[in-house]
Amino acid sequence: MTPNKIIRSKRRTISISINEDAELVVRAPKKLSIEKIQDFIYEKEKWINKKKKLIEDQMKDTSLNQNKLLYLGFLFPITLNQTSSKKLIFSGEEFISNSNNPEILSLSIKKWYKNKFKEIAIPRLNYFADKYNLSVNQIRIKEQKTMWGSCSSKNNINLNYLLIMAPMDVIDYVIIHELVHTIHRNHSVNFWKSVESIMPNFKEAKRWLKENGYKLRRL
Ligand SMILES: [Zn+2]
Repeated sequence: MTPNKIIRSKRRTISISINEDAELVVRAPKKLSIEKIQDFIYEKEKWINKKKKLIEDQMKDTSLNQNKLLYLGFLFPITLNQTSSKKLIFSGEEFISNSNNPEILSLSIKKWYKNKFKEIAIPRLNYFADKYNLSVNQIRIKEQKTMWGSCSSKNNINLNYLLIMAPMDVIDYVIIHELVHTIHRNHSVNFWKSVESIMPNFKEAKRWLKENGYKLRRL
């Protein structure tokens, strides 16, 4: 198996990963020989194949095509109405766009998702923070490539607005996860105990995100 990309840097160790296009990416120290890299790949071949297959299957998943949008875990059709004065509206049953230009539509979707996520997630975060007496500094809503949320040492919480596509329980889970980081900075046993005390069924939401997260990143 040949890597699709070799990224060399000052690092001391070699690592491999499969990117979202199912390509094998190797990160290696500057002077490591190609034979050593190849040996490393052979050792990890089983893992590589498994991971590649998973990502290829996800890429083939056509249940999410361009004419449907995920919102709170449900798929809704997008229909065109060029006389609509708004770029994108949600009727409760469908999304109505006034443009079929893919670029315009994509921008309208992102904007709609971001606004809707703010509308839903910020009050939700404040609700849990008040209820459990957790102090939060700033809340920022943005699109992040790899993370669903984060919490800084100053208790600034970032949330990824793509989560608006996930079921409400999953949004709650990410919010609670980040809020609990204001008291536990790591993923220790006590951290997970605190998460569980607030959300007893958090494992289901965690699993949902692991298995379906790729669908939210396809926007
Ligand atoms: Zn965490």
